Amino acid sequence: MRAIKKMDISSLLELLSRQGTVYVPVREEDGLVSFSPWSPGAEIAWDAGNSLVPPKQLLFPQTETIYRYRVDGLNVSLDELALDDIAPPQVLVGIRPCDVKSLEVLDAVFLTAGYVDTFYQARRNRTLVVAQACTKTQPTCFCDSMGVSPVEALGADIVLYDLGEEMGVVVQTEKGAQALAGAERLGQEKEVPLPKAPECRLSANVDGLAERLKGHFYDPVWDELYRKCLGCGICTYLCPTCHCFDIDRENRGQNGWEYRAWDSCMYSQYTLMAGGHNPRPTKKERVRNRFLHKLQYIPERYGILGCVGCGRCLAKCPVNMDITRIITRLQEVAAGE
Ligand code: SF4
Ligand code: SF4
Repeated sequence: MRAIKKMDISSLLELLSRQGTVYVPVREEDGLVSFSPWSPGAEIAWDAGNSLVPPKQLLFPQTETIYRYRVDGLNVSLDELALDDIAPPQVLVGIRPCDVKSLEVLDAVFLTAGYVDTFYQARRNRTLVVAQACTKTQPTCFCDSMGVSPVEALGADIVLYDLGEEMGVVVQTEKGAQALAGAERLGQEKEVPLPKAPECRLSANVDGLAERLKGHFYDPVWDELYRKCLGCGICTYLCPTCHCFDIDRENRGQNGWEYRAWDSCMYSQYTLMAGGHNPRPTKKERVRNRFLHKLQYIPERYGILGCVGCGRCLAKCPVNMDITRIITRLQEVAAGE
């Protein structure tokens, strides 16, 4: 790997900025860590673990305009959005392995199985992913139970390793190699063994769970599991793999625009139909849907788990709904205990 002195990291970011806007994890005044545009001198939260707000917002924004229109009498004209407006080139630096894995889930949902989301596709194609391996875990991490290694990020173009005084840089794709053309003047090539993966303190056994859950849609366990939930939706907004959205329209005189915005299956109106029927009328159906979606439906449809073990939902749920405990309980039920 190429080892670059940490004091020279800004030269590396400068080099990467030729590819597009560079986003890095930044600790805000209130302590919240999120991805923000980098500029020379910016303080990067390299030690923050995974950001509270996942990087998915840079590929699938919380709100985005789909098209604009203008009405003149009986004539309606549509304004197509320019690619540079929808998807300006960007470089996401410091994404943790769980969040890199979450991109596989978003890719599966937005780019496969007979559906291609052109907005997501445009952003994904114009995004360079520079991951950062984890040298320590947070109390709520359980990525290694979900098939993610804290020190590997196979879906990233480049991976950074914290080596103490230096940052190790490993290129994994042709796109990453092209972005780093010219980096030879930075640091030096070194034979450095990859750091040992830190252990996660939480764990969850998902072996065979998707298959076993098939017969448990009407299981009484859901009466037990949903009770604490407040239906606030925090878990879905912070989840790097949640991807539901709603589409709406705004009019201002003769002009208007249609937009989409994140939605949450934990809200009572999410499945409410125009005629008043709601197939998920209570929190029980909504909680059941959230967990079956992560653990059964996404694996069945795309062959990948819908949870990457980032721990955000259990870290921020106001009533401590802990998906690792729920998985344990579901395994017990599936085993007839
Ligand atoms: S964060 Fe907790 S209380 Fe809020 S909707 Fe999710 S599970 Fe329910
Ligand atoms: S369900 Fe929770 S732990 Fe799993 S990926 Fe989503 S936020 Fe992270």
